[in-house]
Amino acid sequence: MKKNIVIVGAGLVGSILACYLSRRGYKIEVFERRPDMRTAGFIGGRSINLALSHRGWKALKAIGLHDAVSKISIPMRGRVIHDINGGTTFIPYGKDDQAIYSVSRGQLNQIMVEEAAKYKDVNFHFNHRCTAIDFNKNDITFQNENTKTQRQEHADVIFGADGAFSEVRYEMQRTPNFNLSQQHEEYGYKELEIPAGNYGEHQIDKHALHIWPRKSFMMIALPNLDGSFTVTLFAPFKGENSFETVKTEAQVDAYFKRNFPDAVALMPDRKKDFFNNPTASLCTIKCFPWKYKDACLIGDAAHAVVPFYGQGMNCGFEDVHELDGILNNTNENWEDALNKLQYQRKPNSDAIADLALYNFIEMRDLSGREDFQLRLKIEKKIAQKFADKFMTHYAMVTFSDLSYAEAKKRGEQQSALLDKIMALPDIENNWDSDVVIAMAEEWINNNRN
Ligand SMILES: Cc1cc2nc3c(=O)[nH]c(=O)nc-3n(C[C@H](O)[C@H](O)[C@H](O)COP(=O)(O)OP(=O)(O)OC[C@H]3O[C@@H](n4cnc5c(N)ncnc54)[C@H](O)[C@@H]3O)c2cc1C
Repeated sequence: MKKNIVIVGAGLVGSILACYLSRRGYKIEVFERRPDMRTAGFIGGRSINLALSHRGWKALKAIGLHDAVSKISIPMRGRVIHDINGGTTFIPYGKDDQAIYSVSRGQLNQIMVEEAAKYKDVNFHFNHRCTAIDFNKNDITFQNENTKTQRQEHADVIFGADGAFSEVRYEMQRTPNFNLSQQHEEYGYKELEIPAGNYGEHQIDKHALHIWPRKSFMMIALPNLDGSFTVTLFAPFKGENSFETVKTEAQVDAYFKRNFPDAVALMPDRKKDFFNNPTASLCTIKCFPWKYKDACLIGDAAHAVVPFYGQGMNCGFEDVHELDGILNNTNENWEDALNKLQYQRKPNSDAIADLALYNFIEMRDLSGREDFQLRLKIEKKIAQKFADKFMTHYAMVTFSDLSYAEAKKRGEQQSALLDKIMALPDIENNWDSDVVIAMAEEWINNNRN
């Protein structure tokens, strides 16, 4: 008898999980508290996009969604750094054929829901909020958000794919030995927009992720297919250049003219957007165990990370892809499979959580500094020269299958080498000298064999 599976949450991870499990012939009921995005559109009608990279593509390819998602994605081959005087510098992310991809969150979600809904044993129930779970009986209670009526579902396996503020996790918190940490940043973010030009064209390079690094805060922009860019301002809640210092339209204007002068003309609606769009908070959530009896957390519900490595969704997709492999290896023994999943993924989700926090410093501060740009250039040069033994740290995280934990470890080791190289005299002029290459070779021989 195939099991009945309930997935709480039809966001990015819940919907890809439904695609994977539907292919195994399970009976799947997916409950989502929001309205159906296929008919109701997306949150507030705003285009919100995210960066999809290798791990996410790998998971999409395995269920045949590569082509459909390719059609809605824009390759970003590097970062364009916008300095305070309006000057720009392009820094490639990797090799010439490597890119991360800007994808509309809503459209991606819709493609996966449509795919899963093709299977006759998969049912989506929108406007249904999970409000309680009885883990002993495997009963889950949902409230219909329109009628306010309650209904109960019974399942053999329950997935909590209900995001960072998961109700399923909240219910698990009351079970024995559940550990949880939640770290809110002193930073928030606000989504703004660079609209398309008069002819529907992108007004700045569409094949790049744009960054305006300003040391303690930053703005970024990712392209959309319609010619616009979704812009995100990350700033402290309080203090200098914080959200609390911007309360009037005149202050928005002054803030942009002072900090992002080259973006002013590109963002005619900045004042309206600034006050219409919410200021959201950022947090890292770590917990363990993810599994309790027949229920398991997955995606952000198990591990919410800050967005600065562009890996939250990619990591959630990798959870699902790895679960699929584990189900093969355990002959679909769910008790074993969920147990393995949590032990296999936990060190990796912890690693990407730490890397993502660090990457905020890199994006908002270091990426604008010449010495850091030089460091990246040297790292890339070494990776080109010793391609089979040395990868840039960014490539390990973004373009490889290496586990996040291994990528973190290797990144720390490589950082020590780069520190030594950067300390060489006159490194600005000798960055690709034989001395640098010899140092790298010696290090590789000692560390990578
Ligand atoms: C500003 C920002 C930028 C980001 N950029 C990137 C990026 O570039 N690349 C990347 O890989 N990741 C990025 N992320 C992270 C990414 O958004 C998340 O990792 C991803 O959305 C996680 O998917 P999920 O399905 O686990 O959670 P969610 O996408 O949050 O989905 C959870 C779903 O559960 C539903 N739900 C919640 N509670 C209940 C309930 N009680 N009952 C029923 N349903 C419920 C919600 O409505 C939602 O649809 C970014 C995040 C932020 C905040």
